[in-house]
Amino acid sequence: MGWIGVSMDLDSVFKKVDRGLFLPDGYEKQKDVDLPIPIGRGQTTSAPSVIRHMLELLQLRKGDKVLEIGTGFGYQTALLCELVGDENVVSVERYYELYERARFNLERAGYHPILRVGDGSCGWDEFAPYDRIIASASYPEFPEQLKGQLTEEGIAVLPVGRLVQRLVVYEKEYDRITYDIPVMFVPMIGRCGYKDG
Ligand code: SAH
Repeated sequence: MGWIGVSMDLDSVFKKVDRGLFLPDGYEKQKDVDLPIPIGRGQTTSAPSVIRHMLELLQLRKGDKVLEIGTGFGYQTALLCELVGDENVVSVERYYELYERARFNLERAGYHPILRVGDGSCGWDEFAPYDRIIASASYPEFPEQLKGQLTEEGIAVLPVGRLVQRLVVYEKEYDRITYDIPVMFVPMIGRCGYKDG
């Protein structure tokens, strides 16, 4: 399956994308530290090992159209661009200033995905359906609304849980939810996430 080709690429993609270009000023030296790093507005950019695990669970195939919810500083967005091509990546961020910084970071690194600012918690209609959806902020429970934005063989990977969060893999083909490892993400704030700050 196409996904094997992409999974073998994960190592080289992580080597190729310079995390230092996606960290706040003064943090460049920590680019090889496998921890989340604050990016302002109370948000963090995820640890590379967690991103890598999520990308594995996503079973990307070349040319898949991907929706990323929670652009942050754009590091994972850049990895997605490498994996499926810039034109296939749509990323939504709630905070305008993070969206702007992500756009700056991505452009100077040579990536041109589709970026939007707004509440992406219920997905993003404009470019639906998506083959894959990945969210970088945690939902109180699985967002049923995302199902309608996935293609027939679509897969979504996202964190779910209030006190204890776990990664969840949803496969539309089987209408099946699988629980994966415990994780710690900032909350998804919006209509299909947490209702307040
Ligand atoms: N992948 C990013 C992670 C950023 S943290 C990175 O590596 O830099 C999660 C992001 O989700 C935050 O930037 C936060 O502002 C954003 N977010 C939270 N709720 C959101 C919503 N409803 N729609 C879009 N983005 C949201």
